[in-house]
Amino acid sequence: MGLLEGKVALITGGSRGQGRAHAVTCAREGADVVIFDLATPAVDVAYKLATPDDHAETVRQVQALGRRILAIEGDVRGQSTLDKAVAQTIAELGSIDILIANAGIWTQGNFWELTERQWDEMIGVNLTGVWKSAKAVAPHMIERTSGSIVITSSANGLEPGDRYAHYVSAKHGVIGLMKNIALELAPYGIRCNAISPGAIKTPMTDHQAAWDMFAGHDNGTEEDMIQGGYHYNALRGRTFLDPQAIADTALYLNSKLADNVTGVTIPVDGGHLLMPG
Ligand code: NAD
Repeated sequence: MGLLEGKVALITGGSRGQGRAHAVTCAREGADVVIFDLATPAVDVAYKLATPDDHAETVRQVQALGRRILAIEGDVRGQSTLDKAVAQTIAELGSIDILIANAGIWTQGNFWELTERQWDEMIGVNLTGVWKSAKAVAPHMIERTSGSIVITSSANGLEPGDRYAHYVSAKHGVIGLMKNIALELAPYGIRCNAISPGAIKTPMTDHQAAWDMFAGHDNGTEEDMIQGGYHYNALRGRTFLDPQAIADTALYLNSKLADNVTGVTIPVDGGHLLMPG
């Protein structure tokens, strides 16, 4: 018997990276899954966003575990698309018990050099997109007086970062949003929590701009980045974390094990936040 037996989990940005780890973990623990992700690149980032092949691979992995999955293409900035995805999920899978608001983007630039477009895209996806995702599922969860929402923030929801004030603002913002959602939904027995991942190995960190940032210099290589990653993890000999570390924490938060836990942020960062400088 899995920890999420008979549940239905909606995962934004579920096609790859941490989102895929969430999808496969939920399925392994007995849940049916809905992934909601972009079909075509809709924002301007220095790396590729999910492709139809990514959606298909997550579908394959969930189905291999014997669970049902819906793969819905959409942008978390679109309320009507999210609302339709929720309606489709309830019609086809019966309910939504879990929302993992994981979709996100990352770009860099000194705050005085960011364009309005970069700022708006970041806040639109990483903050407003989380609000819209939670807004889409809330009426259904309230009606059933049951549900769990997990929001993916970041270590940068708790500390500043290297030339990404817009990302830091959005990731701090979702922690405030999480606390209010937790407070407003507590009377209905619905819980809401956040996870603050440290440095995680996913396509978001596997490109030149990220290699340079983690390496601490221009023209960094993947190996430089991995070496630089030791500065982001206090645990001896460890560098980037596997997405499974985040999926395991969400599993705890979404399960009965955390039935009395709401309104908290759990850093999953190998002790990075403890480190000086
Ligand atoms: P990723 O780029 O592999 O995954 C992000 C997913 O979100 C992709 O599938 C992408 O297509 C999707 N997405 C982006 N914009 C979207 C939109 N407008 N609508 C719908 N889907 C959209 O990276 P990841 O590391 O798996 O990121 C997952 C979350 O973790 C993000 O919120 C990210 O900010 C956060 N995070 C990542 C790290 C890290 O080191 N990788 C650290 C802290 C927090």
